Amino acid sequence: MKKIVLASGNRKKVAELTQLLAQFQYQVIPQTDLNVSDVPETGTTFVENAIIKARHAAEVTGLPAIADDSGIEVDYLDGQPGIYSARFCGEHGNDQGNNDLLLEKLSGVAAEERTARYQCVLVFMQHAKDPTPLICQGTWEGRIMTEEMGDGGFGYDPLFWCEEHHCSAAQLTPEQKAAISHRGKALNQLMQSLQAKFS
Ligand code: IMP
Repeated sequence: MKKIVLASGNRKKVAELTQLLAQFQYQVIPQTDLNVSDVPETGTTFVENAIIKARHAAEVTGLPAIADDSGIEVDYLDGQPGIYSARFCGEHGNDQGNNDLLLEKLSGVAAEERTARYQCVLVFMQHAKDPTPLICQGTWEGRIMTEEMGDGGFGYDPLFWCEEHHCSAAQLTPEQKAAISHRGKALNQLMQSLQAKFS
């Protein structure tokens, strides 16, 4: 098995990628296990931030790296919170604060103007100076609801109306969500790109 570092300590992401990358003889190691610190996400796009994270992990460990960056774009807010999704309310990872602020900013806004989409970018880099990293992107179209529903998922899921199943993203099973989500789509693309690269 070849080793690959994942520029995240998120156990769910590690488990998902471990399973998917085994077919390419890659063993996924979270960067936290290799003492890689978080790098400031100074880019202005999901693509730049994913590249920054993957390059940093590859540089520190000397291993190939994978990183992802994701978030939600709300049309009425000109694409906000976008790359700032995790810290929309000012405190990183405060899901409830983020959801409360989003509802406040959309207060009184009609249903047809509440369109939004999740974005996920995944980057695979063979080494820190890889001039052609694989860049995969998945998008999931939806709408911001007027109140929270469901307790599954994470982040903005209780407020994200899923047109495919007529419920909130937080009311989907993990399998249902993975089959249609931005992250699921980006992962599928990555599998196809890796197959093409290594076949
Ligand atoms: P990260 O790229 O996993 O750090 O995610 C960035 C932020 O985007 C998260 O903290 C959430 O606020 C939001 N986000 C990304 N993907 C999802 C999702 O699938 N559901 C809900 N929120 C998400």
